[in-house]
Amino acid sequence: MTYTIEKITTLVGARRFGHRDANIAFLLTDSRSLCFPEETLFFALTSERNDGHNYIADLYRRGVRNFVVEQVPLSYEVNYPEANFLRVADTLKALQRLAERHRDEYDIPIVGITGSNGKTVVKEWLYQLISPDKIVIRSPRSYNSQIGVPLSVWLLKEDTQVGIFEAGISRPGEMPALQTIIQPTIGVLTNVGSAHQENFASKEAKCKEKLRLFYESDVIVYCMDDDTIRRCVSESTLKGELLAWSSKDDKAPMYVHIHIEGLRTVVDYTFKNHLRGQYTIPFIDSASIENSVVAATVALQLDVTPDVLAERMARLEPVAMRLEVKEGQHGCTLINDSYNSDIKSLDIALDFMNRRPDHKGRRRTLILSDIYQSGQSGESLYGEVSKLAIERGVEKFIGIGADLFSHADLIKISEKFFFKTVESFLQSEVFRSLRDEVILIKGARQFGFDRITENLVRKVHETVLEVNLNAVVDNLNYYRDMMKPGTKLVCMIKADAYGAGSVEIAKTLQDHQVDYLAVAVADEGVTLRKNGITGNIMIMNPEMSAFKTMFDYDLEPEVYSFRLLEALVKAAEKEGVTDYPVHIKLDTGMHRLGFDPKHDMEELIRRLKRQNAIIPRSVFSHFVGSDDDGFDAFSTRQFELFDQGSRQLQQAFSHNILRHIDNSAGIEHFPERQLDMCRLGLGLYGINPRNNQTIHTISALKTTILQLRHVPAGDSIGYSRRTVLDKDSLIAAIPIGYADGLNRRLGNRKGYCLVNGKQAQYVGNICMDVCMIDVTGIDCKEGDMVEIFGPELPVTVLSDLLETIPYEVMTGISNRVRRVYYQD
Ligand SMILES: *Cc1c(COP(=O)(O)O)cnc(C)c1O
Repeated sequence: MTYTIEKITTLVGARRFGHRDANIAFLLTDSRSLCFPEETLFFALTSERNDGHNYIADLYRRGVRNFVVEQVPLSYEVNYPEANFLRVADTLKALQRLAERHRDEYDIPIVGITGSNGKTVVKEWLYQLISPDKIVIRSPRSYNSQIGVPLSVWLLKEDTQVGIFEAGISRPGEMPALQTIIQPTIGVLTNVGSAHQENFASKEAKCKEKLRLFYESDVIVYCMDDDTIRRCVSESTLKGELLAWSSKDDKAPMYVHIHIEGLRTVVDYTFKNHLRGQYTIPFIDSASIENSVVAATVALQLDVTPDVLAERMARLEPVAMRLEVKEGQHGCTLINDSYNSDIKSLDIALDFMNRRPDHKGRRRTLILSDIYQSGQSGESLYGEVSKLAIERGVEKFIGIGADLFSHADLIKISEKFFFKTVESFLQSEVFRSLRDEVILIKGARQFGFDRITENLVRKVHETVLEVNLNAVVDNLNYYRDMMKPGTKLVCMIKADAYGAGSVEIAKTLQDHQVDYLAVAVADEGVTLRKNGITGNIMIMNPEMSAFKTMFDYDLEPEVYSFRLLEALVKAAEKEGVTDYPVHIKLDTGMHRLGFDPKHDMEELIRRLKRQNAIIPRSVFSHFVGSDDDGFDAFSTRQFELFDQGSRQLQQAFSHNILRHIDNSAGIEHFPERQLDMCRLGLGLYGINPRNNQTIHTISALKTTILQLRHVPAGDSIGYSRRTVLDKDSLIAAIPIGYADGLNRRLGNRKGYCLVNGKQAQYVGNICMDVCMIDVTGIDCKEGDMVEIFGPELPVTVLSDLLETIPYEVMTGISNRVRRVYYQD
């Protein structure tokens, strides 16, 4: 579903500056989420903390051409010659207005869910109950705010049969805007609790505000066993049918009888006095039971039969929680929970920590930030936190924030520390002395607790790999000069950027506006995200176990098989993810991974079309021998296969799918095959794969002489006496071994390194952490620098000696070798 930019201009009542044609399929409010620049309309939202107008230049560079703004940039015709600016008085209102008009196009059941707790669970469960038969669009995650709701509603497509949207409010007056955007035909109120209570005069006031979502609804689902809700419903002017549920009043339109049997709950129900049925769910806590009743009521209203309901209820899946576990330094385990800083989620996280098998014998520590928006006084709130923490076995408490600092006496745990800021904690002795603890890190987003996690994650001896970041840029430009203008670029930073260290390389590349970064596995991508990489990241070998991580961190997987495709779609649907960008790999001759462009395309297209969880962003293949003219005929065959398969895919979709096949060697050797995008690997790291020559050396592996000794002729060096000296020699020991990635086959005079510019052979077998070199006749002393490879000794000399490729030598440098970055 796309809208022309003219149409949008009219719909939002904007004044347009710029006159390029455009079709808009995606709305964007957070520049970090950019994905399909050509078809994206960016709304420059303004808030107390941020101003979307500041991101226009960056987005324009990244290919975005359409912007909704409150102020048109100065000299826009000069600075943004290809852009359209739609000027409005209020960008948020314009976003909401557009979503409203989009919603108007649909005459289908739309479920609007509000309430203090359980909105996301009810939404996800309802989805599980009805989606097997119907095409359902629902809010991603908990997009339920003034911005989240319009972005969710925008996801409705021509073929949607049911929409399910959450609406969340935190202050009076917010609901009418959400009502006009969602216009729910079925309204659902889960419950009314204490969240955001501080902004409302009373529970009644909050309840009535929530009910405003249902002003135009045909049916309203709520619990009549709650007195406040019942009273508020009767006092509100609602015109729809009241579909209340109750476990007490058998006259209720949805009357339920609930009994728990072991680890399951059985619910018998009578729906509108005529339909009787029973279902069982695999949960026994009261929140899950209530949520299931609400979801069942809506499902029955949507004509799900009791048999089908029973079958699907029995297989209900819990809704994902966000708790990450990581290995920290000094024997610590870190549990990171950045979901929410309310007391309920604290309880869940503490419970999780307590139940982990690895806490035994280790101290349980809680690092907590101030809690916002509880509506409780500091006294009662932090008193409750203290009780909860003690109950859940917390032995050490670290509180961060002004509020906690001033309520320190309320925390009744003897080992406790308080800091006003994350910085002061990071600089403290308390931080440095964390040892053998299981640490729950739970902070409100504003506190940026990620900095604590980063500093606690495991780190690393005197061999270093020096990396010259300018040389990386020089190599980048070497290839860019060979690329046709407008061709996009993926930089391959898999395998820790070919050994150079992915984070710093990625930061450098991001500064130079490369379009995509590609890593091998999800964890590499997560590391980049945690270090401030906001651009597009592709995952070349997505693990089935890491889909959720990919969604959480906006990592775009490669898809190479039907099995992977199905698993990914399933995972995306479970998480409520829609239109998630993926990259389709075709096998044109490598015979490694990929779809067969001859036989698989129809089936692939069919499967992609019947779901909306994922969407192909690009399609690609890989040359097996673009570095060697001897394979040119084969490369041409590969290209033809790719050309055909990728065109077929493109023809099946209306949005532009990027096509790419050239790697480093291909960019140079097959410029006509650069297509929409190229993938730069080895060349970036300074080696031209076409001739094995150095472009610009980016790294140097260096160590120092630990000890020098004179060894007489006839003595042997090292384990198993493999090198016997034929003359009196000067031998140096250096702290690098095969565990650092120094190939053991270089020993016994097969290879050499450089000491003060002179070649020194490896003598004896290379040991694990140390090796010996022959420095006879070289002017040197203990402490002198040794170059294993670098500007004076190209890595290709080593790879040639080892009869391998430079890739293997570069990626073999182990993690314990510290990377040092510099710019000259
Ligand atoms: C590693 C890789 C590249 C980069 O290849 P170079 O020869 O290093 O340029 C390109 N595409 C794919 C799919 C890769 O795995």
